[in-house]
Amino acid sequence: MKVFKDGMVVTGDGKTILEKGTVVVIGDTIADVIERVDPSVEDYAEEVVDCSGKCIMPGMINHHQHGVTFGPMFASGCENYGRDFIMNHLDRSLLQGHTTVLNVDGFVTMDEVRETQRHHPIRIKTATTHAPINLRAGELCDGKGLQEKHRQMNAEKMFSEGAVCIGEVGGGHTLGGGGQDYLYIPKAVKEAKGRDIDYLQARAMKLSVLGRYIEESYYDRDRVASALKEAKLDSFLTPEETRDIVYKTTLSSVKVALDGYREAADIARKLNVPLMIHNAPTSKSIVHEIAKMKLPTLIACHSNYLFTTEECVENGKYLKQFEGVVLDAAVHDPFGAKKLVATPDNLFAFYKNDLVDIISTDFAAGWSDSMLEGMQHAALEKKLVGFAKAVSQGTSRVTEVLPLLAPNLGLLKKGFGADIVITAYPEIKNVERVYIGGKLAAKDGKVIR
Ligand SMILES: [Zn+2]
Repeated sequence: MKVFKDGMVVTGDGKTILEKGTVVVIGDTIADVIERVDPSVEDYAEEVVDCSGKCIMPGMINHHQHGVTFGPMFASGCENYGRDFIMNHLDRSLLQGHTTVLNVDGFVTMDEVRETQRHHPIRIKTATTHAPINLRAGELCDGKGLQEKHRQMNAEKMFSEGAVCIGEVGGGHTLGGGGQDYLYIPKAVKEAKGRDIDYLQARAMKLSVLGRYIEESYYDRDRVASALKEAKLDSFLTPEETRDIVYKTTLSSVKVALDGYREAADIARKLNVPLMIHNAPTSKSIVHEIAKMKLPTLIACHSNYLFTTEECVENGKYLKQFEGVVLDAAVHDPFGAKKLVATPDNLFAFYKNDLVDIISTDFAAGWSDSMLEGMQHAALEKKLVGFAKAVSQGTSRVTEVLPLLAPNLGLLKKGFGADIVITAYPEIKNVERVYIGGKLAAKDGKVIR
């Protein structure tokens, strides 16, 4: 028996906070959550942890992360970043207070999940996008991490082996993001004109032809002409040539990726499972199309990402009116690395407008800030949301939306699994101890294996 006493207990149910409470754990299970423990209980406890001045919460359930298994990455099925990266990434995640992580690199197979799990205490679950059109979208974009076993797999089999939802469908790469800028457009220009261009010039070409929402109808000759001039491309590219190159390199694969959304929605309906879709300006209209289908559970991923602040609030309000839609707000990296997302404005706007259903970190090139950090700033410092509610959005709400992800977890409640984090207070991002299934998994910044 372990006793965590005299801490601020946030149970995760969205309303309950015990200012000075105690959590009793027997084996891998929570035996009690009480205001005051009988001192005699401490006599036969194997461990009594004094949590005065600290916070006791359920382990955070991060339902959106990439690069956490030994399988291929992203909707593009590219090669993963290597074993060292993956293990460090899992360590980082655990030390941030996440006890369950959902891999949303949808081409990973269950043997790869199990192999990764053998090497790390954090609970690793997976989503799936194993279906022909999604596979084709990945291969058109990259696909270098895909082997025969990934190609042969299907979603139904993945669910029978333990997948928890379909996702992440779509992504920056397959929807005309990075790959086109770095690779496909420069390559096509080289072939057509014998000239080298950089990724910023390629991006300027792409955006001038298709716009931020990647739409064929966006094309306007004058707009492209002035963009070519500004990007110093006008000496060797005409607007018509630019349009043709961008249509060929970007639009054709984007069309397949959008069909991949429809394919995934059909599978989600058929198997009656939750669907997670990439929600960003490039996928806005397809996300609206799928939302109108009223699937049982549709998670609009990182709905605060890449939009302007006004856009993400407006789009979030619009999506929320559809039955089954769940809005995920991603923390990304605006407090630490600031490489992907420079400010938390959109995250805060989501809290302020009560648009957050659940939160996650997303990848942020491996430098994502923690869910606890997001909660700390939003709830405890800016008071944009109640503390109990904020914690539930990273714990019990996630398990309600994704019932297969962390059954019997996400709450400090008698009979639930003992995944527990102990943090400083009010600096809850400072994680002091992490328990998974009642076992100490991290302490003072070190993972225990
Ligand atoms: Zn995404």
